[in-house]
Amino acid sequence: MNNPLQKIYENNIAWAEKIKTQRPDFFSDLSKQQSPEYLWIGCSDSRVVAEQLVGLQPGELFVHRNIANVVVPTDLNCLSVIQFAVEVLKVKHIIVCGHYGCGGVKASMEGIEHGLIDNWLCHIKSVHQKNEDELLCIADKTERLDRLCELNVIEQVRNICHTTVVQRAWRNNKELSVHGCIYTLETGILKDLNMRFSEIDHTNDIYQLKQAKKNIYQPNLKVMKSDYEGR
Ligand SMILES: [Zn+2]
Repeated sequence: MNNPLQKIYENNIAWAEKIKTQRPDFFSDLSKQQSPEYLWIGCSDSRVVAEQLVGLQPGELFVHRNIANVVVPTDLNCLSVIQFAVEVLKVKHIIVCGHYGCGGVKASMEGIEHGLIDNWLCHIKSVHQKNEDELLCIADKTERLDRLCELNVIEQVRNICHTTVVQRAWRNNKELSVHGCIYTLETGILKDLNMRFSEIDHTNDIYQLKQAKKNIYQPNLKVMKSDYEGR
């Protein structure tokens, strides 16, 4: 029976052989550990190939991708990636990368039912609503979509800064910056959106988390024990 993935396995062998020829120790070195300096949060779009477009090698970029590069504080998957990247791998930079013409962002503007994904796209609709005055002044539909793609990156950069993981890292004076950029499919060029946050004071007061006083939420175990024994 033909394996429908045959091409993928053949490509893999050719790729591994090519790398082994160029750098004989590459895989044995890489298998020992990874120490990426960057966490990349991008769109799942198959045309936005994270490592390739920034010229990095395997082991140099820790990657999380989802539809329209959204970061929400209830997404355990994304939060776990951020926590592992910051606290275990000790990455120094978190990069949110959007792309112009993003299908997820476009779908959020259409007002048409797409199914379950509409719940996810609500996060982008909120960005739209927040920036409605600016967006509705843009007459051209493509330009409006592209601006929302940029605003979505800006919002997600802020959301990352508000996470407990990043707040804690900054409170402990860890070297960590959060950046935003956007990719143009037609040219392959990445544009810096000049969003760069690297300390707790860069976030609004309401999001800044001070360390709680020790034992403030600890139950009084002695009282509880005597209560129990007295029964
Ligand atoms: Zn996209």
